[in-house]
Amino acid sequence: MNLAEGLKGRHVLITGASSGLGEAFARLCARSGATVTLAARRKQRLDSLAEELRTGGAKVSVIGLDVADETSVASAFGALNEPLDVLVNNAGTNMSGPAIDAGIDAFDAVMSTNLRGIWLMSVACARLWRDEGRGGSIINVASILSTQLASGLAAYAVSKAGVVKMTEALALEWARYGIRTNAISPGYIGTDINGGFLESVSGQAMLKRIPLRRFGSPDDLSAAFLLLATDASAWMTGTTITVDGGHSLATV
Ligand code: NAD
Repeated sequence: MNLAEGLKGRHVLITGASSGLGEAFARLCARSGATVTLAARRKQRLDSLAEELRTGGAKVSVIGLDVADETSVASAFGALNEPLDVLVNNAGTNMSGPAIDAGIDAFDAVMSTNLRGIWLMSVACARLWRDEGRGGSIINVASILSTQLASGLAAYAVSKAGVVKMTEALALEWARYGIRTNAISPGYIGTDINGGFLESVSGQAMLKRIPLRRFGSPDDLSAAFLLLATDASAWMTGTTITVDGGHSLATV
């Protein structure tokens, strides 16, 4: 089965597409013949990615979007110029440091993007699909920290556990509309969000605890992404696929 074939002609909206995993998902969708809507706050970075993907023959639109802002979410869905098939809730943020010293603003910022943002995007999208009488696939990007813990990442871990639970709860509610909701839980992949941690002494010590002995690359998520985005997963909903080199199996 060629999974990429299943994306041809589909319309995929990706949040947080201006860098890291979101950018890689956008490139994968463009290569697979999908129409892509890139959404993020840094519109300038999206414009240059869109230009590059268009040069390769892809149909690409750009939308400025803050997932935590209800008005911004509503205008993003209002700006879509063709029906959507797949929503990728990839935008995410992090705070690091001991919870005991953290200000509530930092906690709120993590929850706003990682939980409220996915909620707002998913509900707006599901209403649209329900009103149009069509189904679709939602892919949420969780993390292995939804089930594991790492020191100094309490708020992030709590938010990602919420992402997995939201994936399950909305899958249960929305199956009746033909809307499937699944998640990918990546292990550690070098992007802006972990800002140099992987190269640090602690990052290199962590590497030794990953059974497959390497950090991931964004392309390691491609197969899971294509599976969840296409009809190949027509009978899957509420599932979280872990892609982490075995990291979450590591022994103490
Ligand atoms: P990244 O920092 O490169 O990407 C995050 C993106 O989200 C950025 O483009 C950022 O601008 C965008 N974003 C943040 N807040 C936003 C908001 N309010 N509205 C719209 N966009 C917003 O990091 P990444 O690693 O590519 O992260 C992508 C997703 O993958 C995140 O949800 C992250 O938690 C998750 N994740 C990453 C790793 C990893 O090791 N890189 C592991 C597990 C999960």
